[in-house]
Amino acid sequence: MDCIFCKIVSGSIPSRKVLETVRSLAFLDAFPLVKGHVLVIPKTHCVKIQEMTQQDNADLFETVRIMAERVERLGPSSLVAVHNGKESGQEVQHVHVHVIPRSKEDGAGPVHSMFTKRPKMSDAEFAKVLDILK
Ligand code: 5GP
Ligand code: ZN
Repeated sequence: MDCIFCKIVSGSIPSRKVLETVRSLAFLDAFPLVKGHVLVIPKTHCVKIQEMTQQDNADLFETVRIMAERVERLGPSSLVAVHNGKESGQEVQHVHVHVIPRSKEDGAGPVHSMFTKRPKMSDAEFAKVLDILK
């Protein structure tokens, strides 16, 4: 399969590994948004998180938890983010969690600032959405 993150898992593409478990791998982003930008991936290829097994998911999130603690050696807080599909901005089609040190000085603002057109929702619209999601 022509997947760069699978190649990182197999070792055919080099990476700067931070932490490895049986099921997941954390390594430095090659083109970091800030110093200390880490990616955490499942070793098994999946495009979206909902394709992962519960075990892979649990292991991945535990690795994310540990990495969030460590990247905060580089900043007072951290951003944990997943582009879950092409339309949301996913460029590499293998699940990856960004763990990024954050500080007020980085100027990036909250994730909310990505959305400039908040919908005004009626009770009926909330009910419709609830119906879809329940
Ligand atoms: P996405 O936009 O898909 O959420 O993020 C993909 C991330 O993978 C980007 O932050 C990009 O810098 C990183 N990336 C792309 N290719 C490589 C690579 O070959 N090695 C590493 N370490 N990171 C990569
Ligand atoms: Zn892959």
